[in-house]
Amino acid sequence: MASWQEYLAQNRERFIEELLEFLRIPSISSLPEHADDVQEAAEWVAERMLQAGIEGVRILPTEGHPVVYGDWLHAPGKPTILIYGHFDTQPVDPLELWTHPPFEPVIQNGRVYARGASDDKGNMLIPILAVEALLQTEGKLPVNVKFFFEGQEEIGSPHLPPFVAANRELLACDMVVSSDGGQWSEDQPALSVAFRGLCALQIDVVGARRDLHSGSYGGAVQNPIHALVRILDSMRSPDGKILVDGFYDDVVFTEEDRRLIAQVPFDEAEFKAELGVTELFGEPGYSTLERIWARPTLEVNGIWGGFQGEGVKTVLPNQAHAKITCRLVANQQPARIRELIAAHIKQHTPPGVKVNVHPFASAADPYRMPVDHPGNQAARAVHLQLYGKEPYYVRSGGTIPVCSLFLQHLGAYTVNFAFGLKDEQAHAPNEFFRLSSFDRGQQAYCLLLHQLATVDSAD
Ligand SMILES: [Zn+2]
Repeated sequence: MASWQEYLAQNRERFIEELLEFLRIPSISSLPEHADDVQEAAEWVAERMLQAGIEGVRILPTEGHPVVYGDWLHAPGKPTILIYGHFDTQPVDPLELWTHPPFEPVIQNGRVYARGASDDKGNMLIPILAVEALLQTEGKLPVNVKFFFEGQEEIGSPHLPPFVAANRELLACDMVVSSDGGQWSEDQPALSVAFRGLCALQIDVVGARRDLHSGSYGGAVQNPIHALVRILDSMRSPDGKILVDGFYDDVVFTEEDRRLIAQVPFDEAEFKAELGVTELFGEPGYSTLERIWARPTLEVNGIWGGFQGEGVKTVLPNQAHAKITCRLVANQQPARIRELIAAHIKQHTPPGVKVNVHPFASAADPYRMPVDHPGNQAARAVHLQLYGKEPYYVRSGGTIPVCSLFLQHLGAYTVNFAFGLKDEQAHAPNEFFRLSSFDRGQQAYCLLLHQLATVDSAD
């Protein structure tokens, strides 16, 4: 019988043809007129999973776009791995910047150009092909595998939380492996170990009953814009430390975090040049990467009030407003941070105005996994074998809510194991995926599933 390596090599052309077929489905999740295409992509994925020998394949409805589930559960005593990915894509505009139509994939110089090629169709097809190769050559998988693919990632997965909460049994696993994401570079692997969370609120400051003439009333009544400026200024020191009482209390930042972040190369001069700023600014005592990856923020995103027209208006406005978001790190909690900020505002409100703090529902928990999680150890071993290098342990300053979601409802950490690269124009015109990554990813998943067989199962 052929080895899985031989099987992958022998079926390479067919796998590429199948990727092109998958990419021809314009499964744009944000546009209602493409809802049928998202459904078609779900059906394509389900069909392809069946073909690979995956069992229990089904398309399950959510309040929005469907999810696709399938499993192979014949490795008693071995861990259960839930493989995650998404089959929806971003929209394509501006269309005129595409060299080829976004849903008519072409291969040039070893790259497949199409919307969704890297994010995430190329990446999510990889584990299906790897599982097929193992089943066809070894007759079984080294671990239990569940697949969970969604069709609404690019719109923020609004219907995923209730779905995951209601399907805990179906999705129960020892760990999640996400096929959505990428590596540091073509020759440098990386493992993502933390993402920041988010909370948001609006401050409304109200003074007099109505706008006032600054000649008749100016000097006698508090100006809400000045009051707002004082409140905002009280939240951060001039050198960038957040002054809200208790804000940093739950932040976890260790010497080990510092050591791992310091191993990731970062060119500060290039960073400044690209942004067009002469100086960087942030919390004292931390490097730029630490500030972006491992420290929380409080930023005013918008501020408005009073007269905005041309020329002069001698008005004493009666309202002023600001919007604030915070990027959070483990173990800060969005609701707690909003409370602390509200208390701070109350304490720092100047006399003569009323302040309303309006929290926004959009919030995300920060995510942080142990660097030495068994899944990371297995992934590291595969990276060492394929790249001949230790992975960087990286983070993202942004939010990947699905990792917190799985942790919350399934009690499982997510190992990020995908092969996109930063220059592949995800979300932009001329998105592409390297066929070399497509090949390497298939080998990597075969190796990973074998490696994971040595991990203790929870049951
Ligand atoms: Zn994605």
